[in-house]
Amino acid sequence: MKIPRVLVVEDEKAIAELISVNLRHHGMLAVLAEDGEAAQAAIDDVLPDVILLDWMLPGQSGLVLAKRWRLDPRTKLTPILMLTARGDEPDKIAGLDAGADDYITKPFSTQELLARIRAVPRRRAPEQASDVVRIGGLQLDGSTHRVSYQDTPLRLGPTEFKLLNYFMHHAERVHSRSQLLDRVWGDHVFIEERTVDVHVKRLREALGTAGAMVETVRGVGYRLTASVTPDA
Ligand code: CA
Repeated sequence: MKIPRVLVVEDEKAIAELISVNLRHHGMLAVLAEDGEAAQAAIDDVLPDVILLDWMLPGQSGLVLAKRWRLDPRTKLTPILMLTARGDEPDKIAGLDAGADDYITKPFSTQELLARIRAVPRRRAPEQASDVVRIGGLQLDGSTHRVSYQDTPLRLGPTEFKLLNYFMHHAERVHSRSQLLDRVWGDHVFIEERTVDVHVKRLREALGTAGAMVETVRGVGYRLTASVTPDA
């Protein structure tokens, strides 16, 4: 299993060190940043699995950073856990409104911190359902990685499989290229959006006649639909 990478944005060195020692002790990788600028540089380097964000920071506050990262395509799905010394409800609500997934009030115990980190929603994880889905003659088995159309097996590359898996679990809805990058490619969001077009093209080719079910929605993105009846 991949070691969870936790970005700790905290200017108080003693607290940051204590958190990082505890995280490492529990099998996580802690990356420390003392302010928003250092945190942004760390994010640009490697996208963390979770961000622990202190509210009171020199320069930009944790609140401002949470808002910014929620809007940034690269970090919008990264769970943010706010650290706050304040017990005030309005501040907690402001933190959640800014896009934090949860908050933890200082002082907190190591156990409490670890429990919160583990409980934070894994919104970023690419969707990998393992059940069987059928749409308009297409069948995809998530556990065996088999795809067939009208009972004829089809051969798909790994990325095309993941793409089809996502489309089939979210059929009839339009997905933008950036949404597909987030949901199918996960944290490799530095991939150009054009890459999505390349894989959609390959997916259509691999699907043969069923390729017509993958529609281009001009100016928006792509959609898998059963409303198109492919030529037999
Ligand atoms: Ca602080």
